[in-house]
Amino acid sequence: MAEVAVIYCRVSTAEQAQEGISLEAQEACCRAFCQKNGIKVQGVFVERGESARTTNRPILQEMLSFCGKKRKLITKIVVYKIDRLSRNKNSYFAMQVYLKKYEISIKSATEPLGDDSPVGRLLEGILASVSEFESDLVSQRTKLSMQQARSSGRIVHSAPVGYMMRKIEGGKSIAVHDPQRAPFVLKAFKMIASGDYSQAYVRRLLTCEGFLTRKSNPVSGQTFRRILSNRTYAGWIKVSDEIGYVRGDFEPIVSDKLFLRVQKTLEEKRCRGARLTLDNPDFPLRGFVKCGCCGLPLTGCWSKGNTKKYPYYRCRSKSCSFGSIRKEHLETSFMDYLRNSIPGSEEVEVSRATLLEQWGREQSAREEEGTSLLVQLESIQQDRQKLRKAFIYDAAIDRSTYEEETERLARLELGIRDQMEQTSNGTEYLPELLDKAITVISTVASTWYEGNLDTRRKVQYTLFPGGLTYTKSHWVRTPPSGSQICIYDLFSPSLSCLATPTGIEPVLPA
Ligand SMILES: [Zn+2]
Repeated sequence: MAEVAVIYCRVSTAEQAQEGISLEAQEACCRAFCQKNGIKVQGVFVERGESARTTNRPILQEMLSFCGKKRKLITKIVVYKIDRLSRNKNSYFAMQVYLKKYEISIKSATEPLGDDSPVGRLLEGILASVSEFESDLVSQRTKLSMQQARSSGRIVHSAPVGYMMRKIEGGKSIAVHDPQRAPFVLKAFKMIASGDYSQAYVRRLLTCEGFLTRKSNPVSGQTFRRILSNRTYAGWIKVSDEIGYVRGDFEPIVSDKLFLRVQKTLEEKRCRGARLTLDNPDFPLRGFVKCGCCGLPLTGCWSKGNTKKYPYYRCRSKSCSFGSIRKEHLETSFMDYLRNSIPGSEEVEVSRATLLEQWGREQSAREEEGTSLLVQLESIQQDRQKLRKAFIYDAAIDRSTYEEETERLARLELGIRDQMEQTSNGTEYLPELLDKAITVISTVASTWYEGNLDTRRKVQYTLFPGGLTYTKSHWVRTPPSGSQICIYDLFSPSLSCLATPTGIEPVLPA
């Protein structure tokens, strides 16, 4: 039975100006790939001007639900490059796992992702990881200019709920109070500061009174918490972790005093055992590390000592004997584990050589194919000469036959040239990719140490997609679920003594 695929193409707004990756080119390339591999194309989904950082793209969602409905029919999603689908490894894997349920796999028309060969699967893993780190590098470049803008007290990105951006002379924009929402923000701060109401209550009340986001949705619990701890409302702009805050060039909505009172109230509630948000920078290992006694994820909290508060990680279960561990102890131990887990240069060299050798074999198959394509090309050229001779010198065929044949040969040649391009496309790819992966891995401990919460979590989940378990004496890796691949496995086969799998289901955005 012939395989059936859908094609997914995407350009981001930034890319639209660049050449070579137009939607048409992407689609043509995917179609050629399908034709070559005997895959029938059932539909083409085209996304314009969306970024690959999230899977929250309307056409992507449409495609996924289309695939879900036609689950018995469609077996492949074909993209020009994997980065069309995702630059974020977690969402890419979530998508893979989601699709696997429907027995659908992802194919890249230009990248050498072997079918189900182990090398192919591993490559797919590094490719996704590397493209994620690249995406980080890109954002780092814009970070600096953002930092400059912030140090002059300006709101960059979009204004938080309660503010709106207004264009002023010289093309700049400044933040001003949003007359509809600013009063709600102020009221929220006042009510929370009183200590008499829960966040949930205040949020519900204000929603009833008409407090909605700019997209006319009710403010979510998460957004509401962020509002309450966002110092922008008191007129401050955070430049960076190192530099700290500067005064903004806009009117505050709440006073410093009110803001601080709210922070104090929130903190008190938190320490009374209220749930912390997962994105607390104080506890990067929260949720990622599981308790070695009972298997529940560890959480973080601040505990009072005699004179000051100390950060701890502790087991969520009250009845568990694990108890708690000082933040510094757990994180130092984690760093040690990270350092010890990094494969040695010898190991890396051996794995690299093995992979390159395997790849070399595939490569020679590719070269053979290339040679055969060349032969076909030559035979087309000979046919063309024969045709010309038959029409002009021998007058054996009429004009319309001549033109028809010429046209047919031209199409044939185009198809072959296309295939040639594809076979050569993957040629130098692997060594380069491997080097990138090696760089990423060898610097990973310092990347974690110096990184912010986001980077830290990214490192954690890239290296240990299934998380880690800590037993107070040693660390155990939880094997990743589904088709997740740990890039460590690529270089350190000796590390594969894994614990029993746990059922972690990656969440796909609805
Ligand atoms: Zn426990």
